[in-house]
Amino acid sequence: VEWRNGLGWSNPQIIQSGPIALHPFAHVFHYANECYEGMKAYIDSNGNVRMFRPEKNMERLNFSASRLCLPAFNGEELLKCIEALLKVDKEWIPRKKGYAMYLRPLIFSTTPWLGLTQTSEAHLYVMMSPVGPYFKSGFVPIKLAVDSKWIRAWPGGTGNVKFGGNYSPTVMAQRDAANAGASQALFVYDKEQYITEAGTMNIFLFWKNNMGEIELVTPSLEDGTILAGITRQSVIDLAREWGECKVTERMLPLQEVLDAFIREDVYEIFGTGTAAVIQPISSISYDGIDYSVPKNAFSENAFQVRMTNTLTAIQYGEIDHPWSRV
Ligand code: PMP
Repeated sequence: VEWRNGLGWSNPQIIQSGPIALHPFAHVFHYANECYEGMKAYIDSNGNVRMFRPEKNMERLNFSASRLCLPAFNGEELLKCIEALLKVDKEWIPRKKGYAMYLRPLIFSTTPWLGLTQTSEAHLYVMMSPVGPYFKSGFVPIKLAVDSKWIRAWPGGTGNVKFGGNYSPTVMAQRDAANAGASQALFVYDKEQYITEAGTMNIFLFWKNNMGEIELVTPSLEDGTILAGITRQSVIDLAREWGECKVTERMLPLQEVLDAFIREDVYEIFGTGTAAVIQPISSISYDGIDYSVPKNAFSENAFQVRMTNTLTAIQYGEIDHPWSRV
């Protein structure tokens, strides 16, 4: 779909994926004015196509677009377009549990002008690709390395916007994390080293906090330094419904977390995101020291294992739930 200032959106089409022609001056190349979403479509045992809380992706896409002065697209209309696209390619949507069709709607400025002006032309496309299970051999925990050198986001920045400009500067941090023997970097900021998130996932701790309470805690959204993950919100909502522990969103200084590891009060730490749903984490490395969770952190009764099972059952329509859109 194309957008022009004053004319709005026009010319919707479904085409075979392949190269597209853009003007070399197109703003997106020079000023990174683009934003996108990552979401999945699943097939349930009755052959229905389902999406998980897709209205939230639409809301977030338009939030990102507004932050970058890109045109918004009506969320419900876009979901109808996505459903039409899924119908055309239904036989490509994998039918096995764990598999899905990954969908990426993307809005980008094609404004053919060298100066950084307001967007006068833009495009929106939705690409999709079948994806397999994130864990090919079971629930595999990973190690994170705290990155105190590269800052991913800070208050007033774009940490809560889903756009490429947040990701390309983290490639270097990912390389450093790999050199430290970890799979992903854990980003912190400020003198307090507040924990924000890992490369593509939000972070949760299931622990005994320093008041002695059993708590599920995750960094808060209030300072705008993290992406408002849809899996993150779903974990918070379900945990509140389960009512078995206190659920808290707040600023989380790294030292407080490391102290809890030393007291052996951290029972579980995990990441959340559309790709893996829940990514178990076995340890955090900081300043050459590994802080690890106990071995039973991934047992059948672990909080994160129960949470994964519930979320995937909702996504594949095994549990009837309003979050799953047929
Ligand atoms: N943080 C970042 C930086 C991400 O790229 C993602 C993946 N979209 C997430 C968190 C998780 O968000 P969601 O649960 O909506 O996939």
